[in-house]
Amino acid sequence: MAWFLNFYRCERCAQAWTDEWSCICDDECPHCGARDMSPSRSEDLTELILSNEDCFVVLRSADDAEDEPSYEELGRFSSRAKAEEFLAASDPI
Ligand SMILES: [Zn+2]
Repeated sequence: MAWFLNFYRCERCAQAWTDEWSCICDDECPHCGARDMSPSRSEDLTELILSNEDCFVVLRSADDAEDEPSYEELGRFSSRAKAEEFLAASDPI
């Protein structure tokens, strides 16, 4: 399952907010309640590289994720470049 961080800006009150969800979907403004606001942009968080103290951890959102990303660890690497290489070589879902 894909996982996204969506960025919104309300067309009515101009407030901005973000929401994480398993799709790029419309949201309700948490400030004024305006409905059906479309995200201005989205970040794909399906695959992540986290830097740990001594390594880089590659995570991918589980196929059955719905309410939360349910990240699974795919591997640990000694450098970010190796982690990116791994992701580039693995098949996209
Ligand atoms: Zn609003």
